Amino acid sequence: MAPGVRLIIFGRQGAGKGTQCQRLATHYGVPHVSTGDMLRAAVKAGTEFGLKARDYMDAGKLLPDDIMVGLVAERLAQPDAVTGWLLDGFPRTVGQAEALNEVTSDAPAEKAVNLEVPESVVFERITKRRVCSGTCQRIYRVGDPSAESGVCEHCGGAVVQRGDDTEESVRKRLADYQAQTVPVVEWFAQQGRLVEVDGDQPADDVFAALVHAIDNR
Ligand code: AMP
Repeated sequence: MAPGVRLIIFGRQGAGKGTQCQRLATHYGVPHVSTGDMLRAAVKAGTEFGLKARDYMDAGKLLPDDIMVGLVAERLAQPDAVTGWLLDGFPRTVGQAEALNEVTSDAPAEKAVNLEVPESVVFERITKRRVCSGTCQRIYRVGDPSAESGVCEHCGGAVVQRGDDTEESVRKRLADYQAQTVPVVEWFAQQGRLVEVDGDQPADDVFAALVHAIDNR
């Protein structure tokens, strides 16, 4: 296992960030801290915080910076984050990035990595994605037999398009990323703390490029 790292991962929806983060977390032995996953878990658990978070998420809005900074600071203070962490989905605003610098002043993020996939490519990837709504939750693409038949070849579940994978919804999510997150990515670049990795290649090649970029950080 490679030694721990402290990294921020950026990438558009559909850039393959989730898959790559899981592999990187295992490779470097650090927790994958995804704010989207944390919020979805709170919503599922039905906590008071989760109910509040759901209102923002359903409206496609960002939660207030102070709430998000508190949530992340608490998570990074957990024992498993001592060796490092992989932050995904945070920071989403320049205010969050500045606050992260403050709360991690003892051991700040070493680098921010931008998994770059052109908008046209992710648009095609997401709108052609179909998912098994049965037990296996496998991901298919239009053209795959299970996607065409609507029946999962592994578990027999219904293969459907996710509600937020429609063209209209994807256009909005990509526009939001451009307006909200690209300025944060540029903020890291201006500070000389950003590494760009080409995410428009086979998943194994993306992983190798990420490890190379991270090990040479
Ligand atoms: P994600 O899965 O990262 O796209 O996050 C899903 C939703 O959770 C977002 O649309 C926001 O409503 C909320 N969220 C996640 N991360 C943040 C963040 N850093 N700041 C504010 N809201 C966030």
